[in-house]
Amino acid sequence: MGKIAVYCEIDNANNVLSDVSFELLSKARQMKFDAKKIDCEGNDFEVVAIAIGKTLDMESAKKAFSAGADYFTLIKDDCLELFSQTAYSLAFIEYFSANPCDIIIFPATSKGRIIAPRITTILDTGLVADCTGLELIERNGKIVLASTRPTFGAELMATIISKKNPQCATVRPKTFAADFWDIENSVSNSYFEYQLKYPINETRSRLLRTFLDKDSISDFAGAKIILAGGFGLYDGKNREYYDKLEKLAKKIGAKFGATRKVVDLNLVPKNCQIGQTGTTVLPELYVAFGISGAIQHMVGAKNSKKIIAINSDKDAEIFKYWVYSIVTHEKRFFIKIIKYFLK
Ligand SMILES: Cc1cc2nc3c(=O)[nH]c(=O)nc-3n(C[C@H](O)[C@H](O)[C@H](O)COP(=O)(O)OP(=O)(O)OC[C@H]3O[C@@H](n4cnc5c(N)ncnc54)[C@H](O)[C@@H]3O)c2cc1C
Repeated sequence: MGKIAVYCEIDNANNVLSDVSFELLSKARQMKFDAKKIDCEGNDFEVVAIAIGKTLDMESAKKAFSAGADYFTLIKDDCLELFSQTAYSLAFIEYFSANPCDIIIFPATSKGRIIAPRITTILDTGLVADCTGLELIERNGKIVLASTRPTFGAELMATIISKKNPQCATVRPKTFAADFWDIENSVSNSYFEYQLKYPINETRSRLLRTFLDKDSISDFAGAKIILAGGFGLYDGKNREYYDKLEKLAKKIGAKFGATRKVVDLNLVPKNCQIGQTGTTVLPELYVAFGISGAIQHMVGAKNSKKIIAINSDKDAEIFKYWVYSIVTHEKRFFIKIIKYFLK
């Protein structure tokens, strides 16, 4: 049976799994089911969740099963209490050498982005970074991972197939939705703890302390509605309309986002940027004000359940996506629109 491993990141401060773990497990489960429909040998997969740390809250492990894990392994040791790129990578390799998998999916978080290239280099395999789509397909009589990601400055989407096992990819948070299923109460048979045989106490770098830099952190977590402003809202003088949009977002319990063009002009802080080099979001409703719909922006917003786009150009790129379209030249019109939709 084939194995899809998902590296589940532990928030060391609270000993719980980060939300992106559940998103990736849900995607892995969906791929497992889709693979069964392919008429090809080796179309049977199981999903293995792998976490690294000293301890883990058991509720979090249960949630991983409900999101899609068939098995869960916590690689544990005292030396893994705090994140260390060397220790975590070597711990993963030690476990993996005895328990190989065909596919490994890592979160493209700051920690995931550090350990995934180290692990894949040691395993002498490839890594497709920042994927926006993952699929199992048949190629030359085998089931392989097809990873899609933006390329050439995000002008094109490329689907990449790795020639070597394990086939590895990183995926940014909020690229896929987490989906929880009812599971039986007893999952203990599928939960394992792997004690490191070769603890790593000597590393070149050591984490001394962690602190939160609030200004650099995007705050779109759990956002149901996002009001995003693009360059079309700029009046050529100041950030009046962005302030208004932000105020409106606060008032209705939504989050405020923006395009990179607006961020680069210092009209809005970087942590509001949505897109390829910003944050990927997954709200119920995404309202785009004066946003042209460049692919680099849309890769971060296109999976929103509903998109309303307001633009003065009826041929704007954003209207090519599945959106509710409103064409207007009147900037103030946007406030009326929002009030209407949220009645
Ligand atoms: C490697 C790379 C990475 C990038 N990463 C990102 C990213 O993460 N996020 C991101 O957003 N961009 C990113 N970009 C930039 C991206 O290519 C676009 O330049 C950017 O998204 C455009 O922003 P915009 O839609 O606000 O501006 P514009 O493209 O200038 O569009 C403004 C829109 O407003 C409309 N408009 C004008 N006046 C009005 C009005 N009165 N009422 C209504 N509509 C009006 C116009 O018709 C137009 O469609 C990246 C680019 C590169 C090369």
